[in-house]
Amino acid sequence: MKKAENQGSKGISGYPALVSVDLAALVNNYRVLREHAGDSLLLPIVKANAYGAGLFEVATTLWEEGARWFGVARLPEALKLANHMAAQGKEPRILTWLVPGREGYEVAVEAGLDVSVSNLEELQQATEAVRALRDEGEPEATARVHAKVDVGMSRGGSKPEDWGDLLDGLGEAVAQGLITLVGIWSHLPQADDPSGPGRKVTQNQIQVFADACGAAEQKGLVPEVRHLEASAGILWFPEGRFDMVRPGVALYGLSPAPDVVSAEEIGLKPVIRVSTRIQAVKHLSEGDGVSYGATWVADGPHWVGLLPVGYADGIPRALSNGGPFVTRTSSGLVSTPILGRVCMDQIIINLGDGAQPLAQVGDEVVALGDPVEGEPSAEEWAERSSTINYEIIASLPERLDRRHLPTTSELKVSTASAHETRRLASALAEVLQPGDLVVLIGDLGAGKTTFVQGLAEGMGVEGRVTSPTYIVARVHEPTGDGPALVHVDAYRVEDELDLETIDLEATVDQSVTAVEWGEGKVEHLSGERLEVRFSTPPTGGQMLEDEPREIVFTPVGEDITSRLNPFQRQLRGERDENRGSEVEA
Ligand code: ADP
Ligand code: MG
Repeated sequence: MKKAENQGSKGISGYPALVSVDLAALVNNYRVLREHAGDSLLLPIVKANAYGAGLFEVATTLWEEGARWFGVARLPEALKLANHMAAQGKEPRILTWLVPGREGYEVAVEAGLDVSVSNLEELQQATEAVRALRDEGEPEATARVHAKVDVGMSRGGSKPEDWGDLLDGLGEAVAQGLITLVGIWSHLPQADDPSGPGRKVTQNQIQVFADACGAAEQKGLVPEVRHLEASAGILWFPEGRFDMVRPGVALYGLSPAPDVVSAEEIGLKPVIRVSTRIQAVKHLSEGDGVSYGATWVADGPHWVGLLPVGYADGIPRALSNGGPFVTRTSSGLVSTPILGRVCMDQIIINLGDGAQPLAQVGDEVVALGDPVEGEPSAEEWAERSSTINYEIIASLPERLDRRHLPTTSELKVSTASAHETRRLASALAEVLQPGDLVVLIGDLGAGKTTFVQGLAEGMGVEGRVTSPTYIVARVHEPTGDGPALVHVDAYRVEDELDLETIDLEATVDQSVTAVEWGEGKVEHLSGERLEVRFSTPPTGGQMLEDEPREIVFTPVGEDITSRLNPFQRQLRGERDENRGSEVEA
């Protein structure tokens, strides 16, 4: 059991606030953008820790969707990504455009990154870097350059009037074999205003870019990719797509212009969700002030809830008094807005003035979620804090745990033998934790007990796992410091009441509980469970030791769903090495 690892970077179970990253939503958004991109390539922008969604997980997921180019603003992060992908045997093209001087170019070129060049000075830094590398014994060193033209933002890029000189310099460097001109690129500053004055401006800027590419061509400089557009351009200016487009914010499920079109209307799903749990509930009396400055005062008896998050967690102080948090309670989603000022690490929410509080300690509070589900959106936060949705998600700090939900909710695996089924279960044991409930579903002889034998092996528990037909439940104590395995055969158990006689509740929190024939009987025991469904074996009468079985894993609960990620990856790895079980999901 790799406990600390499975519980996130903080290593503390029950860490109170969490960023959940929905990788299935990311894939959905990527596909939506791919549709809009037509024949153009996609270069997903994964800068700033993939807009806060997690650089490695996002890049790996998009690679699996076919993305081969990635964009990262700063060199250190680009290197991080390159190293991570290389370790997995993947070699994406990574464009980085904020390269700090000659030494930066040297590092980038050595690492095989694509770099941006905006003027003759940067070009010189790049060529000097190449020469230095060649002197150091890398005769093949060449800078892969994307030349940037400024079509009207006055940020990076060469002004059109200097473009001719830059092209001449580039031509010389290409002739000397010091650089390859991989790309010509720019950025549109007003594409998020497609129905206002931004339309004309953008159309002109697309023309300026086309002219700049034309001028290069006239000098014999034909790059591999011309790329201009980010999310807004992709969505609203098809004429500016050229060879490649660079989706950013829309990948993460946000509209680049929410006042023009909502994310939902574009078909985008929010990738990032921020939630926490109520830590304490308090009853206030008339006149009690809430938080710093007592900007909210109870005008009678009132309930409030305390949250262990604050502006140091990226929750803007501008959400004070009214920030639209909601709480998931036993009777559904209820509105529980922020009361008083947001503090650095804490927030107080409104739990109403009824006889009972609207929510209880431990209830999940959704700070940022899916507006389609009635949860607060990044746009709502942005509006209240006079900023844009981009800044909201990009400002979620590293101190918040990130949990990645897998791209598929089901995992299908085929095994060829009882031994393989045991091995599969033994691998699963790595990601299981105390409190997990494994519900095994399948006919007699399907392989449920065989699977539990594998679990026992992987967990390192005592005793031999057999069909506990007469004993109903058997506790296998751990040999190390992991949890016990409680193996249950609920075949003879009729209903919940019957189940109480076994008293699984006494052990479920500290153990891993694996239940055969438990479907419909044990679900109430734990919010986190894994259903493992076995295909019925072909009935030929006698049971063979080695028959194929199809096994489908369905996680229920956010935590176990995210813990299935490493398991899934491990299985994929095995498939790639062409041994072991076959994974479909
Ligand atoms: P259950 O507990 O579901 O009734 P068991 O695990 O007790 O089933 O029995 C499964 C039987 O099928 C065992 O005899 C096992 O050796 C055999 N078997 C053959 N192929 C497989 C396989 N791929 N996976 C699991 N068991 C298999
Ligand atoms: Mg059995």
